[in-house]
Amino acid sequence: MPEMPEVQGLVDFLGERATGLTVTKVSVANIAALKTYDPPIDAITGAQVTGAFRHGKFIDLETDAGAHLIFHLAKAGWLRWYEQLPATVIRPGRTPIALRVGFDDGSGFDLTEAGSKKSLAYYAARSPADVPGIARLGPDPLDQSFTRETLAGLLAGRRTQIKGVLRDQSIVAGIGNAYSDEILHAAKMSPYALAAGLTDAEIDRLYAATRQTLTDAVAAASGKPPADLKDAKRRGMAVHGRRGEICPVCGDEVRSVFFADNSLEYCPTCQTGGKILADRRLSRLLK
Ligand SMILES: [Zn+2]
Repeated sequence: MPEMPEVQGLVDFLGERATGLTVTKVSVANIAALKTYDPPIDAITGAQVTGAFRHGKFIDLETDAGAHLIFHLAKAGWLRWYEQLPATVIRPGRTPIALRVGFDDGSGFDLTEAGSKKSLAYYAARSPADVPGIARLGPDPLDQSFTRETLAGLLAGRRTQIKGVLRDQSIVAGIGNAYSDEILHAAKMSPYALAAGLTDAEIDRLYAATRQTLTDAVAAASGKPPADLKDAKRRGMAVHGRRGEICPVCGDEVRSVFFADNSLEYCPTCQTGGKILADRRLSRLLK
């Protein structure tokens, strides 16, 4: 799943490549992924792209027609860019393509989604704030105004596990399963630590780890074409998706905790004082 750094990479690429171009074609291939009807998505046909922006994990293509094309790639979605957009006919229901957008210089992109569970979403909106998922977003951790005190305020009083707090888009925007694993590893903190129970020193570490992990990942993603972003993400991971491999910090073995539909990774020596966390999928079955 693309998270903030990959989404920022896509936004930088689109801003560079598509700003100033005129939209000549909008082909809706998966109508269920189109979440709005007013303004109609055709409102952007003939409009000029004026910029690309990121809101959490949402991508916002702004046009001069007073309409934005906004999309969220969800778990298995991606953007495929073409210097020369194929002229092939898209057959709805038989393609991973959810939306095709073409520009006046012959370039364009597809939004694609792998797998049978479809959750990619796109919107035509007069303002980004009209998209409910954007209106609900918490502060962006790379925003200049996101200070250590901002983070402390978000954690205060929450008797929930820090892993879930970091992933909750309404608390802090843009972080998902992968980067929350990486941030907690860098902060040397158990994913099960309670947000409200963190000491001042732990909040310091968590704040520094959040900023550093995301800043490094955005720098690694920036300037890369969409096709290279997934590999760049994988390469940058110290523990996420690396079960059984060696922790690059301490040499211990990276472990997983499995849940019904995903897993988290952590290093026992770095994060839990050597304790192996119980497998949640198994313990649920045994209950
Ligand atoms: Zn370690």
